[in-house]
Amino acid sequence: MMVERPATWTRQGGELPKRDRASALMRGACHRCPTCGKGALYRAYLKTVDACSACGEPLHHHRADDAPPYFTIAIVGKIIVPLVLLVEQSYKPDLWLQAAVWPLLAVILTLVTLPLVKGALVGYQWALYMHGFDPRSGGDESWDGVGFQSWRDGP
Ligand SMILES: [Zn+2]
Repeated sequence: MMVERPATWTRQGGELPKRDRASALMRGACHRCPTCGKGALYRAYLKTVDACSACGEPLHHHRADDAPPYFTIAIVGKIIVPLVLLVEQSYKPDLWLQAAVWPLLAVILTLVTLPLVKGALVGYQWALYMHGFDPRSGGDESWDGVGFQSWRDGP
């Protein structure tokens, strides 16, 4: 027997209009609101705005948590390590020069990549109606140390 799945899975079951994940990812990565692409996503370096200034979409209930640093480390490592090996093999620069350049490059690359990755993850969460982005959750995704309120309340 075939079980028909809703277009978008939600904890409560029902169907919500499908959101374009790719454009939400790209808008978030460009530091823009995943909904409209016009309003700013951040009010500070990594602090998201509570709501979009252009369309009013609430953005405060994202839960990017530790994912942006995790992906940023993976991305920066996959760029820096091959570069270090390539430069060492090809040019064999002095150790003092490498000790000065590589950490600085890693820090700069991390500072540039981190908000990009966090924005993309917030956009992805929005596109999947995760956490408070699900309009039926009532925006109540408060964590009290035991679990989310909506988990205990059930559908
Ligand atoms: Zn917006």
